[in-house]
Amino acid sequence: MKTLEVHCLGTAGYHPNESRHTSCYFLPKSGVLLDAGTGIFRLPKLIETDHLDILLSHAHLDHVVGLTFLLDILHQRPVKEVCVWGQREKLAAIREHLFHESLFPVAIPVTWHAIDDQSTCDLHGTEMSWRPQEHPGGSVAYRLHTPRPESSASDPPAVLVYATDTLGEDDPESLRWMSGADLLMHECNFDNQNQKWAEKTGHCYLRKVLDIAGQTKPRRLLLTHINPIAELEIGDEGQSLDCPIEIATDGLSVAF
Ligand SMILES: [Zn+2]
Ligand SMILES: [Zn+2]
Repeated sequence: MKTLEVHCLGTAGYHPNESRHTSCYFLPKSGVLLDAGTGIFRLPKLIETDHLDILLSHAHLDHVVGLTFLLDILHQRPVKEVCVWGQREKLAAIREHLFHESLFPVAIPVTWHAIDDQSTCDLHGTEMSWRPQEHPGGSVAYRLHTPRPESSASDPPAVLVYATDTLGEDDPESLRWMSGADLLMHECNFDNQNQKWAEKTGHCYLRKVLDIAGQTKPRRLLLTHINPIAELEIGDEGQSLDCPIEIATDGLSVAF
């Protein structure tokens, strides 16, 4: 069975540093971007499709500021269509504030698509569903079902779950929804010592993520949204899971 790849273009939470840009992940075969932080500047050479679908988890700046880089990106590597997906009020806030003429001079060539009224959307052949998460201002997790390269219609799709900027949804319905992914990309902004800060800021810490992964049983776990001032280590705790665990770094690509 052929694998798909997700490229880590930006893996930091909050703000970029020398080794990490802010949140952006890309699936070249399907043209899907997960968030649009500063890491999006690395996109042009990876584009393989004539369309892009940008899924926004929420509108905090570390997930959206890179939308303003799209003019340069599309100048370097034009595509026919760019769709930006997210909750209606988040898209409205981005358009009103980030693209206010006092902050940015021109409109960007994208179409805006609110997900609120549809639980499932078709992204040029990738099926996307979403769930709300607890985070200051609210955020959403995405689940993608993507056909594998050269697969037939009867082959099972590759399943990716992307859950970032969340307190860690561990209610039965959320766990069921996240279950059985080929790749679970889950934020882990804090280490265990900073559990209080995680809870205060609406983020996760390592033990919580490992607990969620233990219950949802992905084939592979990728920790994302790494706090730039508290570098994370997995240590012995990771042995509680049956699947490989990796900490996302800029430039890493993960097959699933
Ligand atoms: Zn964030
Ligand atoms: Zn956030």
